Amino acid sequence: MARLDPHSYADSDQPRPRQLRLSLAVDFERRQLDGEAALVLAGPAAGPFDLDSRGLDVRSVLTSDGTPVPFELGPEEPVLGQRLRLLLPAGTREVRLRYRTSPEAPALQWLDPQQTAGGRHPFLFSQCQAIHARSLVPIPDTPRVRFSYEAEVVVPEALAAVMSAGPAGDRAGPRTGTRSFRFRMPQPIPPYLLALAVGQLESRDLGPRSRVWAEPQTVEAAAWEFADIEKVIARAEQLFGPYDWERYDMLVLPPSFPYGGMENPRMTFLTPTLLAGDRSLVDVVVHELAHSWTGNLVTNADMEHFWLNEGFTVWAERRLLEALHGEEEAVLAWAIGQNALEESMERFGNDSPLTCLRTRLQGVDPDEAFSSVPYEKGSRFVALLERAAGRVRFDGFMREYMARFRFTSITTEEFLRFLEERLPGVAEAVGVGPWLYEPGLPENAPVFRSARLDALVALASRFAGGEHPTAVQIRGWNPAETLVYLQNLPRELDPADCAWLDAALALTGRGNYEILVEWLTIAAGSDYEPAFPRTREVLVRVGRMKYLRPLYTALGRHPRTRALAREVLAEAAPRYHPLSRRVAASVIEKYTDTPAAP
Ligand SMILES: [Zn+2]
Repeated sequence: MARLDPHSYADSDQPRPRQLRLSLAVDFERRQLDGEAALVLAGPAAGPFDLDSRGLDVRSVLTSDGTPVPFELGPEEPVLGQRLRLLLPAGTREVRLRYRTSPEAPALQWLDPQQTAGGRHPFLFSQCQAIHARSLVPIPDTPRVRFSYEAEVVVPEALAAVMSAGPAGDRAGPRTGTRSFRFRMPQPIPPYLLALAVGQLESRDLGPRSRVWAEPQTVEAAAWEFADIEKVIARAEQLFGPYDWERYDMLVLPPSFPYGGMENPRMTFLTPTLLAGDRSLVDVVVHELAHSWTGNLVTNADMEHFWLNEGFTVWAERRLLEALHGEEEAVLAWAIGQNALEESMERFGNDSPLTCLRTRLQGVDPDEAFSSVPYEKGSRFVALLERAAGRVRFDGFMREYMARFRFTSITTEEFLRFLEERLPGVAEAVGVGPWLYEPGLPENAPVFRSARLDALVALASRFAGGEHPTAVQIRGWNPAETLVYLQNLPRELDPADCAWLDAALALTGRGNYEILVEWLTIAAGSDYEPAFPRTREVLVRVGRMKYLRPLYTALGRHPRTRALAREVLAEAAPRYHPLSRRVAASVIEKYTDTPAAP
């Protein structure tokens, strides 16, 4: 008897589900899902079967022939939730659990109509990564377990449901005023890729296998922003092999979605902050699409190997950016990533075990461990392997890696064995030990440079000495270049410099949130009052954690902005996703007692 995953009660000696059948009614008034989950087992089984659960109200458990299955719910554990132990009668092939979710289920965010773009209907969306699927469905909630699924979801008739699955029809009923949507996911997925959203949704076709869903007020902008998706999928197939999920659809969520995107298979979830109006932020979509290979096809065995998902995906994303837009664009993306990596390293401290790629997370909430490290240190490690092996050999290796491990979940150590088998000597040549098992960024980290990047960084370094970019220079910058320039400016400027920057680069009115938030962060750190109304507006409207952390942190520098931060958080908190609320509160708690920066 052995636990498989530090974040799950699943036991290696116990039965495994191979299929999930869900039948759920969405109750917006009670903020609950109510229904049945049937787990079809890989073979006839008997005895204990441990599932993960959090806040679930389990009312009955039966086998497929109606025999009651005894069950007991263990005590609540802060990180894991509750163990739900079923005692299966001999020969059990399927268990059916009737249950209700809790209104506080961390996987589910229930939005009031005023939190949506349309303002007339409520909205529901799920976010199961890292370990929240257990608050949506009783399941062994570890990526080591994969299952296909079918679902029927009943929603109020004005609304539509989408899932990380193929649509299998919808019809009026079963009750008056309701509509039911069916889904089928034939490919086996880990539990964290279960996903559901319900709202007033419309869709637009983008290509032969892609469609975008959004609220009616947003759908046209979304269709325009992501119109080129088929080109990206086709290019990705050339690099990484066939796209194995049939369709690539996307859903643009209301602004409180805590992430940039979530790679739910067949239905990537996206923040509306990507709708910049100039297609300049599609790199997030490229990232989520790349997960169709790295992450969704070859999956980390548990959160201690999260870098296998994210490091490979960031590497694949930049490889795709290079193929689509050239090396200069990829170098800028690496530079923007370096900035994020340095912020995370600074937040944890260079010697923190959370800056190792292969982490130890027993007793640690994976949401607390989340940072840019698995993404940016991970992708640099993959790029280093690529350089050591040579690009042609490494491209071949990647295709073999994905063919060998497709639809499985693996550990760092399994990856290393495969690396040594296919590219003998490469691991030793790059020194995998410090990269995987030691904190900080190793000395031999690959450097990404270009003349354009060097010139921007040099120009930004001269800003403090009074040298401003010319109007001609500024006009020549694309959004990534503007962002790199801003990221390399001092974090605190005097009001005249702030006013000059804002006017010369038209920053406060930007629709590109990467640039806007970088600017507002400088403005907050500089106590530059004219930017405050826009800062407040962004913090109250947008729940993307990537933006909340730097903005609240910068507001902490001065007593006046610190007070503003507390005031804004009080107003915004009820609208935030629980994850976003936690990030914002943790930033504010940290600076409450520290004196003002001089
Ligand atoms: Zn990712």
